Amino acid sequence: MKLPKYIDVAIVGAGVQALTLTTHLLKKTKKHYNKFLVFDPSQTWLSQWERQFAAQQIPHLRSPSVHHPDPNPSQLRNFAEARYNELFPPYDRPGTKLFNDFCHEVIRRWKLTDKVYPAKVIHILPIKLASRSQFRLILSTGETIIARRVVLATGSGRVQIPNWVERITSDYPTDRLCHSQQVNLNQLNLKGEHILIIGGGLTSGHLAKGAINQGATVTLMTRKQIQEKIFDAEPGWLGPKYLKYFHSRTDWSVRYQQIQQARNGGSMTPEIMLQLRKATHEGKVRIEESCQVKDAQWQDNLWQVLCHDGCKHQFNRIWLATGTTFNVNEYPLLQDVLDTYPTEIVNGLPVLDEHLRLPKSNFFIMGGLAALQIGPVARNIGGGKMACQRIVPAIVKSSLAIG
Ligand SMILES: Cc1cc2nc3c(=O)[nH]c(=O)nc-3n(C[C@H](O)[C@H](O)[C@H](O)COP(=O)(O)OP(=O)(O)OC[C@H]3O[C@@H](n4cnc5c(N)ncnc54)[C@H](O)[C@@H]3O)c2cc1C
Repeated sequence: MKLPKYIDVAIVGAGVQALTLTTHLLKKTKKHYNKFLVFDPSQTWLSQWERQFAAQQIPHLRSPSVHHPDPNPSQLRNFAEARYNELFPPYDRPGTKLFNDFCHEVIRRWKLTDKVYPAKVIHILPIKLASRSQFRLILSTGETIIARRVVLATGSGRVQIPNWVERITSDYPTDRLCHSQQVNLNQLNLKGEHILIIGGGLTSGHLAKGAINQGATVTLMTRKQIQEKIFDAEPGWLGPKYLKYFHSRTDWSVRYQQIQQARNGGSMTPEIMLQLRKATHEGKVRIEESCQVKDAQWQDNLWQVLCHDGCKHQFNRIWLATGTTFNVNEYPLLQDVLDTYPTEIVNGLPVLDEHLRLPKSNFFIMGGLAALQIGPVARNIGGGKMACQRIVPAIVKSSLAIG
């Protein structure tokens, strides 16, 4: 594909959220087909999503079948007509292969295959002209493109690493301590190993299952008691039930607190908990709740771990299923844009306008960074849909445009 000099809308990232945006944009007006381009170094749609589901051997989604990138909520169920055995109770959660096949069908049907330009966006420089503002995107290929509007859809935030990791003084093989995002169960042989998994979210459950399936034993350590929830945030956050009150709060730090309370760290589905309890009875998993690592050192080819309660353990590997955080100050890509468009920041989250723009700009943000407007589900597929309902009108309606 030849890179044009100018594009109306540049979307940074080709994940689930960006795909949702493009289908919603095209549903509103086909006229926009030639007006946007998506940038992603992976060259294809959903590569990060597919990689993570495969690496963690996740059998099905946590969200129900109405959550997907197509504007028609029943489209996935229609697609699954001959594959109902791939919809898992409760709430018809789609199997991983079904969901991925469906997304590829969405990409084909909306003719989006050629819309991903294979490059990472490494700088975004705002250009303020008298009549209108624009952005110059500098790509990893050395090329540049000017965009009237930019939508940041780069996903997962920054990995969260516990403090004790920084205090490790011994050298260790890097694959023996890693964040869950770096674990690929398909490339490991874990037979006979004892693995420490830190974190009480669904990811630690998936990794524990994957490890014991390979013949390892697992200690699952969580700071708090493990919470059992079907979804990571209650479905009331997808509609007026909770959002009406949330949006009535004009104090952004109150909204931030509500987001924290609603997610309350990680949680496991009842189904995974049942499997972990069974594995506990079989002696394959040990669950240590309200427990934290104080110190870990790599010695004699093993992790020597000391916990706050004084207990000592030995492990072959440690996996940090400690999640990610969203902090606008940690996105180098945003720094020039924030200098040009000063934005209030509350606990790392930007205060965006109602169309998810940095104030007075044509710079849109979707995903977890948009949580002060979208609420606790901002990072999820359902949150992506809600973001589209705000972003798309500001792109297609000239009365809502800035500059
Ligand atoms: C294991 C796992 C399971 C999940 N399961 C569910 C679920 O069942 N239901 C649900 O609703 N949510 C789920 N989520 C949450 C969320 O839906 C996913 O994280 C989803 O991938 C978010 O989509 P995204 O488009 O924001 O980010 P991503 O899918 O991560 O896509 C972001 C893309 O941006 C690209 N990118 C990053 N930086 C740049 C740059 N500088 N230039 C160009 N491109 C860039 C990346 O290469 C990537 O392809 C899950 C998350 C994880 C980690």
